[in-house]
Amino acid sequence: QLLSWGKSWQHCCVLLQAQKEFLNYGGIGVSVLEMSHRSADFNKIINKTESLMRELLNIPDNYKVMFLQGGGSGQFSAVPLNLIGLKEDKCADYLVTGTWSEKAAKEAEKYGKVNIVHPKLDRYTIIPDPSSWTLNPSASYVYYCCNETVHGVEYDFTPETNGVVLVSDMSSNFLSRPVDVSKFGLIFAGAQKNVGCAGVTVVIVREDLVGHALKECPIILDYKVQTEMNSLYNTPPCFSIYIMGLVLEWIKNNGGSAAMETLNKQKSSMIYDIINTSNGFYECPVDVTCRSRMNIPFRVGKKEGAETLEKEFLAGASKRGMLSLKGHRSVGGIRASLYNAVTVEDTEALATFMKEFLKEHQ
Ligand code: PMP
Repeated sequence: QLLSWGKSWQHCCVLLQAQKEFLNYGGIGVSVLEMSHRSADFNKIINKTESLMRELLNIPDNYKVMFLQGGGSGQFSAVPLNLIGLKEDKCADYLVTGTWSEKAAKEAEKYGKVNIVHPKLDRYTIIPDPSSWTLNPSASYVYYCCNETVHGVEYDFTPETNGVVLVSDMSSNFLSRPVDVSKFGLIFAGAQKNVGCAGVTVVIVREDLVGHALKECPIILDYKVQTEMNSLYNTPPCFSIYIMGLVLEWIKNNGGSAAMETLNKQKSSMIYDIINTSNGFYECPVDVTCRSRMNIPFRVGKKEGAETLEKEFLAGASKRGMLSLKGHRSVGGIRASLYNAVTVEDTEALATFMKEFLKEHQ
């Protein structure tokens, strides 16, 4: 998904670097794909990736970083398996503001009691006001998804939990803006949106939360085992970790998370401005207070003819080299994903196309 639609030089930097080193990494005569995960060379790669991650997010020393397999969905299970036993009640609070937090809450129900802290939402277009949340002070943790990728709902604040451990799924807005890691017990993120390719999931966890896994926790999901073994209990996704290292280097060379935030605000404003001034031709269902800077879902045209117009919109976009704009199959419509690798120029191309399409069809 780094390749959303551009041929922009930024992510090409990473791809070209990987291409250059593909057959002969660092002059050692083998590819990263061929390397043993126990070799000194891979050890350097994983350590470099971790230290860049620590630097870019300013991760405090009392936090561990893991690079695991199983994706974001694997962490939906790993989080309760490791943390729900932190308190005797085995109870966790969940904010359910979209598909991904809904899936996570369902998975947690297998291992303990789950309390959804706000009234059930009919549509995932808002974040209920924190004054309406009923947090349980005896919960082992409070869980939320910082950016709901399918619905385009993003938190621009860190939930206040009154001392209860805070857990966040940042899969689709990781390193798109600065984050104060010290406010969290645990953050996880699949790499494939903003920091690399599929296959590796980053887990950042506060040290004191490690070592509380339920006895049925599979060993590869056990944070204690994986932190003690530097994510090398079993074979890690070596190539994905290497690619993540290259992307982190790229982020660092381009100004870090603060610069990413500036660009992501600028890019998303370009698209929202067109939606907001289109007289309802483009419609984003998400409340203005929580519109995502990463994923912008919208419908095209008045509802009656929307599907036909949307097909035409997608075909026109595709002709201009803009791919992957189709909305998630569960919600339909269009979704513009403006991850870090999508440039201002790429976004401008989309904005220009949207304006022309509007002119032609309104
Ligand atoms: N959380 C979020 C916010 C996601 O966007 C996704 C996938 N798009 C997942 C979790 C699930 O990740 P995976 O497919 O790696 O299991």
